[in-house]
Amino acid sequence: MARTISKRMLKAKGVLALLLLVILGALTAGYLLTERSAAAQPAETVTEPPTEAPTEAPTEAPTEAPTEAPTEGATAQGAGLVQRAAEGEILTVTPEGDNWALTYIGLQYRLPEDYVPELAAAVEGSDEQLDARVAPYFAEMYAAAKADGCTLTPYAGYCSQARQAENYENRVQMHLNAGMTQEEAQAAAAQRIQPAGASEHNAGLAIDIGSASADFVSTREFAWLTEHAWEYGFVLRYPEDKTDVTGMLYEPWHWRFVGEQAAKEMHESGQCLEEYLGLA
Ligand SMILES: [Zn+2]
Repeated sequence: MARTISKRMLKAKGVLALLLLVILGALTAGYLLTERSAAAQPAETVTEPPTEAPTEAPTEAPTEAPTEAPTEGATAQGAGLVQRAAEGEILTVTPEGDNWALTYIGLQYRLPEDYVPELAAAVEGSDEQLDARVAPYFAEMYAAAKADGCTLTPYAGYCSQARQAENYENRVQMHLNAGMTQEEAQAAAAQRIQPAGASEHNAGLAIDIGSASADFVSTREFAWLTEHAWEYGFVLRYPEDKTDVTGMLYEPWHWRFVGEQAAKEMHESGQCLEEYLGLA
């Protein structure tokens, strides 16, 4: 009896053990399945970011960087002051209104053909003229430099658009004679002499001081201007280290009136006019 009982009990135990095994098996199988699906999910999320990252990163970086950088550097006064010309577009600009002194003039930003500013002698006794609003600032700067033993001789101030056209054509012809095509000659000429209406001299907002020679850079006058011109609202318009931005060759003699506030800010930040106005 006892044997049969124990046999039965053994049988029962065996069934129990089998059941336990089945349950355990089912549990581990379930566990493994959930683990596998859990492992499968991260694998999916891993494949997602790489597809997103390359498409987002390149489009974001180039579009944001150029638009943000200039506005960050430029002041509230300078930023967005100038309407940007589209490629190949030529805008008409006129130095008037509150920000007349910051008028951007260049190949794509030209004065009206008939624009002639109200003129005044750059300094008493000089044949060179400037916009009458600029002349008092130059005269003050001239006197201050004189007191320091430097003579800021006006070499070229206002230039009529008719004379500008003549100078430009002569320059183009010079390059044509040297064997350039018309297109090449115009591009080369514009690095030094702009076409009519595209020069700050046509507005009377700029003055060439001393001479139109590279030697001017080694004069005491140039050193004085570098230190003090901003105090009178003038900036070196085409600096040596900004030729890529200005599109113009280095002109140590060419000083542009931009107003005292802007000149101070440009002096402090080291920006050229294109950068200050957010055009760079
Ligand atoms: Zn000049």
